[in-house]
Amino acid sequence: MKFGTKAIHAGAHPDPSTGAIMTPIYQTSTYVQEAPGVNKGYGYARGKNPTREALQENIAAIENGKHCVCFSSGVAATDAVLKMLRPGDEVITGDDLYGGTYRLFTKIFEPYGIKFRFIDLTDASNINNHLNENTKLIWLETPTNPTMQIIDIVACAEIAKAKNITLVVDNTFASPYLQNPLDLGADIVMHSVTKYLGGHSDVVMGALITNDPAIHEKLYFILNSSGANPGPMDSFLVMRGIKTLHLRMERHCFNGRKIAEYLKTHPKIEKIYWPGFPEHPNHEIAKKQMRDFGGMISIVLKDKSIENTFRVASSFKVFSLAESLGGVESLINHPATMTHASIPKEEREKAGVVDSLLRLSVGVEDVEDLIADIEQALA
Ligand SMILES: *Cc1c(COP(=O)(O)O)cnc(C)c1O
Repeated sequence: MKFGTKAIHAGAHPDPSTGAIMTPIYQTSTYVQEAPGVNKGYGYARGKNPTREALQENIAAIENGKHCVCFSSGVAATDAVLKMLRPGDEVITGDDLYGGTYRLFTKIFEPYGIKFRFIDLTDASNINNHLNENTKLIWLETPTNPTMQIIDIVACAEIAKAKNITLVVDNTFASPYLQNPLDLGADIVMHSVTKYLGGHSDVVMGALITNDPAIHEKLYFILNSSGANPGPMDSFLVMRGIKTLHLRMERHCFNGRKIAEYLKTHPKIEKIYWPGFPEHPNHEIAKKQMRDFGGMISIVLKDKSIENTFRVASSFKVFSLAESLGGVESLINHPATMTHASIPKEEREKAGVVDSLLRLSVGVEDVEDLIADIEQALA
């Protein structure tokens, strides 16, 4: 089945007791047993909930995976992956990561004895310089946040496979509509479901998808043992959101392209990061592994003063100044003080996240209104 059909139908089985076409919100903490240990497959709702299971089946299908486990947030999903490791293990990861991922790695897991190597992954062969017998995990994001670098998933997967290292791809920025890392050799796909999958800025959730039953079993064990499970109402909302993922993504991509082209020649813009431009350094890889280029765009203003950057960021009328991305409404974000504030300034600037960088999450409004808004804000 093709993407749109799966997005609408996968996991959505009519309710057996009433025929309701929409999966009910099973708002329950426990399930009545006929006799001790005799139940209908459900014991306690931290472990299993039918609304969550329907969503997991749906997300697995649209990522071309066999298994999905959902978590109460994207970082809870990342946390679960890291809990598969043991003290002394090493992780190779990118130098342009989501701020919350960086914070989780350095502030929570480093003190437990896990070592992280933050390296430039735009050339996958750099991984070879950091491998040793303790390397257990490669964690990558592509496109990266916010400088929109593209990492070659196939090239990283070849290195990981040869050394029996688990490759995880944070696919939040692309969404399953644009990119399916499991097909490119990744072992686990992570999503901040909060973003494109939910799509309506009303839920915080995470997901992990894999084809490997042993990995799935471990992740599910961690979910049930650590307890970062999402609630049934949120599962229902995301299931509803995903039904239009393909329609939303088409418009995100269309609007993204129009706005990127508009900004490219704007006199107040020094630099623009968007992987759809042929002169983007990783454009060829983007073309190879993505179906389109999405609605995430970063710009660096010519006027570098923080005062000017704040004035521009606060001048939008249709775009809202907020963290997050991937919703139907357009957002503008100042990474240095918002999403990436937890990364030290020096590290941040090395990765190109300068004070005059603004990140746009282009929504699905009418693009003429969005361009007019950008025009007046820059003016
Ligand atoms: C938002 C985000 C996360 C974290 O997810 P939450 O749902 O906010 O916990 C991880 N990675 C990327 C790329 C994100 O944008």
